[in-house]
Amino acid sequence: MKRFSAVLLILISFSFILHAQKIDVYQRPLKYERSRDYDAKHYRVILTFDLDKKSFWGENKITLSPLKDDFKECVLDAEELTVTSVINDQNLPLQFKQTDKHLFVYFSKAYSYGKAVSFTVKYHAEDPKYGLFFDNEGPTNPKMVSTVSWPEYAHHWFPCYDFPNDKVTNELIVTVKNNNKVLSNGRLVSVKEDKEKGTRTYHWSQELPHSTYLFMLAIGPFVVIEDSLGSLPVNYWVYEKDVKDAKWIFKKTPYMIDFFNKLFGYEYPWAKYDQVTTPRQGGGAEATSATVLGEQVIHDKRAEQDFSWERIIAHEISHQWWGDLITLRTWAHTWLNESFGTYSDYLYTRYDKGEDEGAFDLLRKKNQYLREAHTRYMRPIVFDRYDHPQNNFDSHTYPKGAAVLHMLRFVIGDKPFFRTLKHFLHKHEFQAVDTHDFMIAIKEATGQNLDWFFEQFIFKPGHPVFDISYTWDENIKKLKLKVIQIQDTSKDIPIYKIPVIIGIVIPKKKMSKKVWIKQREQVFEFSAEEKPLMVRFDEGNYLLKEWTFDKSLDELLYQLKNDDVIGRIWAASELIKFKDNSRAVNGLMDRTQKDKFWAVRRSAVQTLGEIKRREHVELFKNKCKDKNSKVRTAALKILGDYQDSGLILFFMEQFKKDDSYLAQAEALRSIGKCGDRSQLSFLESAAKMKSPRDVIKKAADWGIKKIDRKKGKGNFFYDYCPPI
Ligand SMILES: [Zn+2]
Repeated sequence: MKRFSAVLLILISFSFILHAQKIDVYQRPLKYERSRDYDAKHYRVILTFDLDKKSFWGENKITLSPLKDDFKECVLDAEELTVTSVINDQNLPLQFKQTDKHLFVYFSKAYSYGKAVSFTVKYHAEDPKYGLFFDNEGPTNPKMVSTVSWPEYAHHWFPCYDFPNDKVTNELIVTVKNNNKVLSNGRLVSVKEDKEKGTRTYHWSQELPHSTYLFMLAIGPFVVIEDSLGSLPVNYWVYEKDVKDAKWIFKKTPYMIDFFNKLFGYEYPWAKYDQVTTPRQGGGAEATSATVLGEQVIHDKRAEQDFSWERIIAHEISHQWWGDLITLRTWAHTWLNESFGTYSDYLYTRYDKGEDEGAFDLLRKKNQYLREAHTRYMRPIVFDRYDHPQNNFDSHTYPKGAAVLHMLRFVIGDKPFFRTLKHFLHKHEFQAVDTHDFMIAIKEATGQNLDWFFEQFIFKPGHPVFDISYTWDENIKKLKLKVIQIQDTSKDIPIYKIPVIIGIVIPKKKMSKKVWIKQREQVFEFSAEEKPLMVRFDEGNYLLKEWTFDKSLDELLYQLKNDDVIGRIWAASELIKFKDNSRAVNGLMDRTQKDKFWAVRRSAVQTLGEIKRREHVELFKNKCKDKNSKVRTAALKILGDYQDSGLILFFMEQFKKDDSYLAQAEALRSIGKCGDRSQLSFLESAAKMKSPRDVIKKAADWGIKKIDRKKGKGNFFYDYCPPI
């Protein structure tokens, strides 16, 4: 069997493959866009909260416009809410019926198409299971309330039409005890204090239309750190204990908004931008003008190298355009939110961290998708089969779509690509859109018809898999490059049409030629003055692909030293094919020290780890001093695999002096792998150390278990997933 992209294989977690199951996503039910018979215009929600009793009560005044004649009955989504009355504009009661999921309101007369209709629903609720959460004071958080309206849970805290194809303006007027603050979407109209009752009423107004899953509410004793971008207020709502760290963690927010303003060609659309931390989010959840972030976003400076949320902060900011300003019409088109958001966080990484980090981030995204494609399923990016919208928020939607946008940019060119984004945003601002709207935007902004591109990469599953080889004819000075597409085309995966850049390096000269791949098998001929030192397929790394490309030792050694970071990482992993050759080993050893990019050094370390020679122990020990913690962590893992008790003292030293939590955790696991019972007390005391996400405790516990198992079962060994 041919060895596919080694970069991919290294990054795939072995245990994940063991436990993953193939899923037939085509068995999922077909879902259509929801039909509606009215257009909701405005929700005026007035609520009072009792955080001790975990209850809230109040009303929603709904203004809507019928989309049909003879509109006599209105069906609203409402769950876990107890409706006590519905009244019309004249304060007269209206008939209503409540079922598990819906509220039916019956009008006393029929309304015709386009008329304004308004009525008020009075209701109360206690500690709902979905949508709105009451949290007791915990070890990390104060007593508070936060919402998760996504994807269709807003109707668990106010009755509404709860599907993203409708956009409304809204007010949220919330009364709480005066030790709390209230955050919501839009502009803060007023805060009124009632000293007698000891309450405060916050009046928020979102004056620009948005979908219900973007409604948010947070109540708690937050400290608000004020910041700004010009006249735009930018605030960070955090727990009191987190203020010091929140200041540096969020400080790039205005700079990120400014970057996206210029990149997208559309000024930030909302009245302000807030970020708030809650115990209910694992990552981040966008909401118009107010992003809800998991409380783990806050950590000390030391943890930044291991657990930085900078990319997530940028990703969520970009949703203020992708998702919030323009919104997916149905959950089949999740990529319009998430692929654009994920591509935006790549663009920010490329801008802020430079070309190498940008390239590596894109590789990481591609591999995330490929892992899902190999171990779970392949589906079209636009996919209308799902049990629940969450099904579509996977590695096809986030990283694959981002990689496809990068290819699209390559195909149409930088300027036309960003012109298209700008046009798409301006044309469809405050609207719900689907993929065809984007395809039309490309045609309008560039004149180009990219339907063939969408057909391959958006509406069909899979990705190209190339087998590449070449020959050099010294007599006629010609290079013949053969490209075969070897993907399995039986599952609706096409033979791809796509341009690709071939890079040819000869001594003192470099050529780049763009060719079009169109058939299953093609041969391209290039003239060169001398035999190439390196032939590069997909120079610039624009394509989402897997590939095999058997190269000579000389070429791989040249590539390892001279190519871009992605080529160097690939060459380092390919050199395993020459593991018995001293030139290959020496080349890798050289790169572990001298390469300027950490991921190349790590790739070289990992290949040497696969070769696993006794004489390399000193080299790996030396790499535990690398300035990048990920390289140190990789070296510690490899050293642990020697299961050599003679290294225990070294691991203990590393544990004590490394400033990376993840490297420390790896040192503990390596102690565990040695299986020496005398180390149990060391691991037990290490397990008491506090660390973000408990990575130290988990590693120490793993090490203890490992030693215990070794005693009982001899050389028992199992793989593990390092925490990320
Ligand atoms: Zn997102």
